[in-house]
Amino acid sequence: MASAPTATELLERCERLFADTALDAVRAWKAAHPGRLAIGHLPVYAPRELIHAAGALPVALQGGGDQVDIVKGDACFQSYICHLPRSTVELGLTGDLDVLDGFVFPSTCDVIRNLSGIWKLLFPQKYARFLDLPQAFDASTGGRFYRHDLEELGRELHGLGGLPPDDGRLRASIALYDDNRRAIEKLYALRRETPWLCSSDEAFLLVKAGGVLDVQEHTALLRAFIDAAGSRPRKREDRIRLLLIGAFCEQPPLGVLRTLEKSGAYVVDDDLNLGARWLEGDVGPSQRPLEALVRAYLEQSTWASTRFEHDEPRGAQLVKRVRRAGADGVVFAAPSFCDPALLDQPPLQKALTEAGVPFFSFKYAENTGQFQGIREQAGTFSDSLKLWGAA
Ligand code: SF4
Repeated sequence: MASAPTATELLERCERLFADTALDAVRAWKAAHPGRLAIGHLPVYAPRELIHAAGALPVALQGGGDQVDIVKGDACFQSYICHLPRSTVELGLTGDLDVLDGFVFPSTCDVIRNLSGIWKLLFPQKYARFLDLPQAFDASTGGRFYRHDLEELGRELHGLGGLPPDDGRLRASIALYDDNRRAIEKLYALRRETPWLCSSDEAFLLVKAGGVLDVQEHTALLRAFIDAAGSRPRKREDRIRLLLIGAFCEQPPLGVLRTLEKSGAYVVDDDLNLGARWLEGDVGPSQRPLEALVRAYLEQSTWASTRFEHDEPRGAQLVKRVRRAGADGVVFAAPSFCDPALLDQPPLQKALTEAGVPFFSFKYAENTGQFQGIREQAGTFSDSLKLWGAA
């Protein structure tokens, strides 16, 4: 009998998938599933259950990281916006995204909205759908609107060659994604409780792998890592605990996450790969699965800078999250020129100040190459908390 993979082997696989900007893993999936679609979706949240129920592979596109040289992508955008749309266009123009049969652009921000328009001009032969997520959270308006949106998306995927995402298929897909969310939540619990067994860059790679893997395969990978993590020869160190916030869309370079961990801190919670953790808890079994998906969006969406604050002020929610994570402080890590993240910082920082939670902030781009400044800032912050303690 083959032995179970070690944590290191699993992480090596995730790192290969991370470096796979040409989507070879998706090409392999399509070769193994002839006739099935692969549908790319931009950050932050997309209803992957519905795409999956159409027999398609949902593929999370989060830009090109620091591995893509921008040659043509810059020509499509102003200099004062974030980096993600440039590298996404670059990947499209170099043919790396040809394997995808269509693209869903959620209504995350104006940049994604503009990107969807540019995409339609550059790639008129490809299916591209702008998905308007509701900003009203009652069932009779936002719910009705969103259900209509999802029904239309389901019909369009079917028209593109996908399976009809009927109730039976959607119910099965929801169950698989509920299971996946539970596994991700377990991984985050492992980090909160024993952060020396899984660093933030490792958790980032593990969750990000779900962007290109079939959901069942990803869930199995996460569970295998959680099982293997306990055997890692790692000891608890005297470090402060940080919550990282603001990196929900364009992802920071791996080097930034590794730098933070080396600066004397455990990053015990974050909003990286937020789309995979957007719904809090199970959607659950239902006779009317599309309704259940709509209800989950209205009632179980996590707090995010791209979502209307309809229930509780975001600052109060952040303070609760700090307490839940047992964090000593917060690091605001926003992509340069990211309006949703940066406009949220003043009220969030005010709430932290009032609650006596220390914080520091820095900006990055997905292709940031120099981490020395971040290391010095994070190291000073960690040392000051160790010396004088959290307020
Ligand atoms: S990084 Fe910020 S500004 Fe850029 S696409 Fe994402 S949410 Fe929009």
